[in-house]
Amino acid sequence: MWRTVEGIGIERKPEDCPFRRVNDIVTEIDEKDDRFMGAVAPPIYENSIYRLPDFATAKLLNKGEVDRYMYGKNANPTTDALAHKLALLEGGEAAQCYSSGTAAIFTALMASLKHGGHIVVVANVYGRTSGFLKQLFHPLGVTTTYVDGTGLQAVKDAIRSDTKVIYLESPTSWQFELQPIQAIADLARKHNITTMIDNTWATPVFQNPIGLGVDLVIHSASKYLGGHSDLVAGAIISSRERIAQLPQLGAVLSPHESAKLMKGLRTLPIRMERHEKSAMKIADYLNRNATIHEVRYPGLPDFSQYELARQQMHGCSGLLSFELDTDLAGVERFINGLRHVSIGGSWGGFDSIIYTTAMSANVEEKLLEGFIPTQCRLSVGLEHMDTLLEDLDQALRKV
Ligand SMILES: *Cc1c(COP(=O)(O)O)cnc(C)c1O
Repeated sequence: MWRTVEGIGIERKPEDCPFRRVNDIVTEIDEKDDRFMGAVAPPIYENSIYRLPDFATAKLLNKGEVDRYMYGKNANPTTDALAHKLALLEGGEAAQCYSSGTAAIFTALMASLKHGGHIVVVANVYGRTSGFLKQLFHPLGVTTTYVDGTGLQAVKDAIRSDTKVIYLESPTSWQFELQPIQAIADLARKHNITTMIDNTWATPVFQNPIGLGVDLVIHSASKYLGGHSDLVAGAIISSRERIAQLPQLGAVLSPHESAKLMKGLRTLPIRMERHEKSAMKIADYLNRNATIHEVRYPGLPDFSQYELARQQMHGCSGLLSFELDTDLAGVERFINGLRHVSIGGSWGGFDSIIYTTAMSANVEEKLLEGFIPTQCRLSVGLEHMDTLLEDLDQALRKV
């Protein structure tokens, strides 16, 4: 599908170009509906209450026989326009937007585990996901098995008669472990198990899990989908039937955030093209640097799961991690030495951001959990590549 050029960079056949597909969707006229009066960017509907014309319409609405808006917590035209785009981007039939990615994850888990049962989860999954399973679902009787999801066998071995969900995150967002998505989805279907995937890292530009057979795709839109570090949002994309069955927790996305997110989506393909290009160059630079142990980035040809990445993704986003060949004091010197790259806990925005587990309050605990003390995670932003390379270079000299 893709091949590397001069060791770095990715060339794709024109028919594989993910940027064109996404661009066609995000620049599609938002609503042909008269409601929006031809507005090119959908207007923000701020109301909570919608007036109904008469008794009979109210009754039909309550029976689900007429498609009208009634109350802002149930549905909003601005948010619906966003959901429509997200569904198209992921190749799903419908989408539901949330006030955060975390709210989307909780809702997806609740939908399938409300009667208890067992869930198989990949190791190193997003912290709040494992947090929910331990703090909220375990007391309700849900049992969890964590597996090394890099191959099919461990997932197969973990399946039990009461397994309801297989939860994937490919790649995970620190160690970048990929899972063979299609093989796992096929296996799950045979056992009547629901599959879910956190697709935040790859974005719908570079990975479309529904096409690989996954049932529910979850996003934190606070990262690349928004892309400007100015909003928190989440989404679930799936079939119309599964979306209709999701429990309604009331954690809806506001129309203002929906409009901002749609503005972010307009530049998603352009931003991802640049994030990928810069991250590829930076990963290659770090890979050759003597102060660095191991760079984890699925786009590097010597990455352990590079072949799987090529098979199931159309490219790579801009988040990567690397281990410094030094002690904790050296990590501190490096981080403090950066002039342009900022220290921060999240990723996926315009600005380059770095974080390291060595900054955690409970480093000892983290080490027991298998965290690597000198590992740094860099979100490669949209700055000029030379600015970033120079900044990293001068800071690495301080290690
Ligand atoms: C940030 C993040 C989330 C949670 O999203 P929020 O919008 O911050 O609630 C979920 N999964 C991954 C991989 C993330 O990085």
